[in-house]
Amino acid sequence: MKKDTHKPPNAAKPRRQPKARLESGKQYQALFENAGDAIFIHDKGGRILAANTMVCKHYGYTRSELMSMNVSHMVIPEKRIHVKKRLARMMQQGSLKFETVCRHKDGTPLPAEVNARRITWNGRAAIMSICRDTGERHKLTEELRRNHDELQTIFDSCPAMIFFKDTDNRLIRINKALAAASGMSPEEIEGKIASELYPHHDEHYWADDKQVMETGQPKTGIIEPLQTPAGIKWLQTDKVPYRDKNGRITGVIGFALDITERKKMEDKLRESEQLLYTAFHAVANPISLSAVKDGCFIEINNAFVDTMGFSREEIIGHTSLELNIWGNPEDRQRMVQLLRRDHQVADVEVNFRRKSGEVFPALFSAKFVEINGQPTMLTVAHDISDFKKAEKEREKLNHELNRTNQELETLIRIVSHDLRSPLVNIQGFNHLLNKACDALFHTLADAALPDETRQALVASHEKAQKSMRFINAGVEKMNGLICGLLHLSRLGRAPLVLQSLDMNALMRAVLEAMAFQIRMAATEVTVDALPECRADMALINQVFSNLLDNAIKYRDNARPLRIRVWGRRETDARVVYCVEDNGQGVAPEHRQKIWNLFYRLDPHGSGDGEGIGLPIVQRIVERHGGEVWLESEIGKGSRFFLALPAAAKETEL
Ligand code: ADP
Repeated sequence: MKKDTHKPPNAAKPRRQPKARLESGKQYQALFENAGDAIFIHDKGGRILAANTMVCKHYGYTRSELMSMNVSHMVIPEKRIHVKKRLARMMQQGSLKFETVCRHKDGTPLPAEVNARRITWNGRAAIMSICRDTGERHKLTEELRRNHDELQTIFDSCPAMIFFKDTDNRLIRINKALAAASGMSPEEIEGKIASELYPHHDEHYWADDKQVMETGQPKTGIIEPLQTPAGIKWLQTDKVPYRDKNGRITGVIGFALDITERKKMEDKLRESEQLLYTAFHAVANPISLSAVKDGCFIEINNAFVDTMGFSREEIIGHTSLELNIWGNPEDRQRMVQLLRRDHQVADVEVNFRRKSGEVFPALFSAKFVEINGQPTMLTVAHDISDFKKAEKEREKLNHELNRTNQELETLIRIVSHDLRSPLVNIQGFNHLLNKACDALFHTLADAALPDETRQALVASHEKAQKSMRFINAGVEKMNGLICGLLHLSRLGRAPLVLQSLDMNALMRAVLEAMAFQIRMAATEVTVDALPECRADMALINQVFSNLLDNAIKYRDNARPLRIRVWGRRETDARVVYCVEDNGQGVAPEHRQKIWNLFYRLDPHGSGDGEGIGLPIVQRIVERHGGEVWLESEIGKGSRFFLALPAAAKETEL
C-alpha cells in the first residue's frame, strides 16, 4: 500500500520559510490535522488537493485515494447534480454554507453541513470545505422530535385533564382531554387568560393556583366544578408548582380527573345513606347491630336508647350481658341456641330489662348479616308491654262481658218465662170474662126490659167486648215479644253445628218454605249460583228467611217486587252474600238503628213484626265470626250484605 505522503498546507517549501512562519505553519498543520471536522481543499472544479485525518477517518478513504478524487465523489449520487453549481457559486460569492449528504467509501450516506470558503492554495484559487457531520445532530433532532411526539401523545392520550398556567393566569399548554371537556380546541385555549375562558369558576381556580405558586406546595384533591357545553362537570384536581431550571416558580401544573359520575354516585349514596339513617332512627322499634366476634354493640337506633333507658355512650362498645338487659337469662340462652341452629329468629317473645330495672315483654327478631366484611348480628325488638296490657284488659272485659251476657240471658229467660205465666192467666181470665159477659148479656136480653135499659145493656156489652179484644191483642203482642226475646237468648246459648253449606240447596229450601208468601206478593225471586260457606245450616236458613220475609214485608206497592240473592267468594277465607230488593229502602238515619232490638221504622206501618228479625240476623252472623251491613236508597230498594267464613276449597280437604 502506498504510504500516505500528503503534506499540510504551507508545508510545501519549508527551507525557504523564515523560522516564525515555519512555526505558525506547523501550528496550522496541527490544527488542520486535528480538527474535529473533515476538511477538504479542492480546486474550483472539485479536484481534491488536500484532506485532513478526519476525512480519512470519516469517509474511509486513504489520503492517496482522495488525491485522485473529486468532491462530487464524496456525496451520494442524488446530490451530485448540485456540486457543479455550488462550486461556481462558491467561487463567485467567496463562501457558501449548505447541507448535503456525503457518502462513506462503503456507500453509507453521511449527512453533513458544509462550510466552504474560497482560499488561495499554493498561489492558486482553491476552496476549503469544512464538512461537519450532522448525522449525530440529525439523530438527536430526530430523537428529540420522537420524544416530543411521544410526550405529546402521552399528554393528549391521558384521560386526566392537564394544564400549565403561568403566573399571569394564562393557560400556556393544555392537553386534548381538557380541550374536549371545555368544548374548544387546544389552540382556542392556549395563550388565553383563564378568567376569560372560565368566568364562572376561575376565581376559585386562580385562588388555588396562587396558593400553590406562593407556597411552593402542591395542593391535591381539590373538588371543583367545570362549566362545559354539556353542563357542569365535577373535577378532582391536583396542582403542583412549575419551576424553571433555576428553581424559580414560573407557573402551576394541574391534573384534573372528571369525577362527575363518581360524584353523582357518591351523592346518591350519601342520599340513600341519609335516607337509611333517617329511617333507622325513625323506626319505633329498637334496632341494634353488634359484632359477632365479641357481642359488643356497634350501632343502635334512637328507639333502642329510648326503650332501654341507657345513653348511646353507655351502650356502644358494650355487650347485652354487661348491660344486663335480658329479663331472663334463659331467654338469652334460648336465642343463642336458636340462632346457632337457624341463623335467625323471628318474633320470639322474650323479656328485657330497662336501665331502671323494669322488665318488659318484647317480640325479638335477629339475623346474621355482614357489614364491612364483618359478621354482625342485626336485632329488632318490639316492645309489647302495651299490647300485653291491652290483651289483659281485653281478656278481663271479655270475661266481664261473658258474665254480663250470661246474666242477661238468664235474666231474659227468667223474666220472659215468668212474664208468660201471668200473661197466660190474663189471656185465660179474659176468655172467661168474655164468656161470662156473653152469658150475662144473653140472660138479661131474654128478660122483659124497658127499651132504654135494653139499649144501655147492648152498648155496655159492646164496650166490654171491645175492651176484652184490646186486652187479647195486647197479650198476644206481649207474648210475641217475649217469644222473640226467648228466641234471641237461645241463639246465644245453642252450640253452632258448623259444616260446609251448599247454599244453593239451602236457598231452594227457604224459597219452598216461603212459596205461599212469595206467590201472594207476586214476587220475582232470582237466585244466582252461590258459593259455599262454613256455617250452621238451621241458623243460616233463619237468616235468609228473615231477610226474604223483610223484603216481602217492606215492598213498595208502586212496582212489582223483585228480589235477587247473589254471592261471591271474596278471599280464600271469606264469602259475601247479598239479598237485594227493590222495596221501600231505608233512610240513612235509620240504617244503623234497624239492627237494634225492637227497633221498627214504622211500628204501625206495613207488615207485622216485633223488631227482632234483623237483630237475630246480626247475632247469628256475628256468632259465625262474620259481619252484616246495609246499602239502601229510599224509594229504590235495599241490599243486605252478609260476610261469612268460606268453606275450605276441595283441594284443601
Ligand atoms: P220487623 O220486621 O219485625 O219490624 P226487623 O228487625 O226485621 O223487624 O226489621 C227492623 C226494621 O227494619 C223494620 O221494621 C223495617 O222498617 C226495616 N226493614 C227491614 N228490612 C227491610 C227491607 N228489606 N226494606 C225496607 N225496610 C226494611
